Amino acid sequence: MKMKLHWQIIIGLVTGALFGIFAAVNQLSGFTHDWIAPFGTLFVNLLKLIAMPLVFASLVTGVASLADVSKLSRMGGRTIGIYLLTTVFAITIGLVVVNALQPGKSIPPEVSADLQSSYVEEIEGRAATIEKVKGRGPLQPLVEIVPQNIIAAFSENTRMLQVVFFALFFGVSLVLIPNEHTRHVKSLVQGLNDIIIKMVDLIMVTAPIGVFALIAGTITAVAGDNIESVLSLLSSLGFYTLVVIFGLFLHVVLVYGSIVHFFTRFSLKEFFKGIAPAQLLAFSTSSSAATLPVTMECVEENLGVKNEVAAFVLPLGATINLDGTALYQGVATVFIAQALGMDLNLTAQLTIVLTALLASIGTAPVPAAGIVMLVIVLESVGVPSSGIALILGVDRILDMVRTATNVTGDAAVTVLVDAAEQKAAAKAASTA
Ligand code: ASP
Repeated sequence: MKMKLHWQIIIGLVTGALFGIFAAVNQLSGFTHDWIAPFGTLFVNLLKLIAMPLVFASLVTGVASLADVSKLSRMGGRTIGIYLLTTVFAITIGLVVVNALQPGKSIPPEVSADLQSSYVEEIEGRAATIEKVKGRGPLQPLVEIVPQNIIAAFSENTRMLQVVFFALFFGVSLVLIPNEHTRHVKSLVQGLNDIIIKMVDLIMVTAPIGVFALIAGTITAVAGDNIESVLSLLSSLGFYTLVVIFGLFLHVVLVYGSIVHFFTRFSLKEFFKGIAPAQLLAFSTSSSAATLPVTMECVEENLGVKNEVAAFVLPLGATINLDGTALYQGVATVFIAQALGMDLNLTAQLTIVLTALLASIGTAPVPAAGIVMLVIVLESVGVPSSGIALILGVDRILDMVRTATNVTGDAAVTVLVDAAEQKAAAKAASTA
């Protein structure tokens, strides 16, 4: 019997981690960088390559199959409402955990000064991006939904929401035109969709190797040939790292667990088993956008979610529903304040809930985007953004875990919306 995909990926992940540690200890980081890591990049490129065409084709196919377009606005309103709600829960859980455990208080002032000076250069390198983020108005994410040029939008994976907008607009207009004129376009897009789904299948055959290379490459990139530096970093930031991971874990269990258990027909085991390949890939790639094709395949094939729901709810989630990122931004802000000896009162904490919600919506679903947008949250409560230097060292590992959380959240809300749609359809059928 062929081994299940998620087991194959887990084996890739574990052997990749072991190899990465072995390479770092034995001064083989250069070798890993030159000869192993490129296979990880190749794998991620393959996924990114099809993300945009997949979003477009599957969204248009999904909308075109809707008998009634008003269903779209109902589904849209419901989806966005639930997404916002889960993000507010995430930030609240993060704030409760970080205030209760106070990881920032355990950082001695000399360690804090040390960390800040060692990451000064890296922060300077990001200064331009940070300045840009600071200048964003609160409605900027809304303005960015509508592209000026669709080819430009297609050319950059971070602009996925713009393609979602165009595909919805295109799909709705398609449905509003008599069928005799659009038949060919519909079957063309449907065909395109089928081809891209096949491409996802083919790419996933190489997932275990891709994941092996990604993890080995990440470990050696972080550790260089000096694994001791990682260990010393972890000894000072280990508690903070654990607090973020604990918060993310609580959020997954409490919020997503309740959604799946109380509002869908799946058991927790079925749900988590169904989306395991997507979670593992999110963890390995740190990119919700690159993971999207696999998340779609998992919810549709393993959990039986209808394409018209998945095609709409998932790309939207990848761009606006970054619960893991929001939780992390809340915890990081309070942590930095604690480490710098600042007190954040209740008003400041409420401000964090609002700004982390907006910042996470504006965060692109790509690696390390969350820490850049963190600046918005820090600034809103008067914590100096240079404090980012304190947490930069462990950001990569937290990025992996928060991306897996982000993807899990999108999948949980997708099964929830699918269940609600099915209920509505059954009700409509029984009253007809
Ligand atoms: N890497 C995350 C994602 O793709 C975003 C972040 O940096 O928090 O979902």
